[in-house]
Amino acid sequence: MTVMRVIVDTQRCELHGECMVAAPEVFTIEADDTFVTVLNPEPGQHLRSKVEEAVMMCPMGAIRIED
Ligand code: SF4
Repeated sequence: MTVMRVIVDTQRCELHGECMVAAPEVFTIEADDTFVTVLNPEPGQHLRSKVEEAVMMCPMGAIRIED
């Protein structure tokens, strides 16, 4: 099975948090963070639709998926 990699462009991330709402299993924002933390950079395919939603929701276009 192909591995999905989640990559966040930390230069673009402005902590809007939509990704965390869309896929809380993958993204989190801790106190004092200056960009989002990817909890799970290689989530299973069962999380793909949530990660795709995060990609669409991110107002900064900061998230991408690599297969
Ligand atoms: S939605 Fe985009 S800008 Fe907002 S925290 Fe996630 S990666 Fe950063």
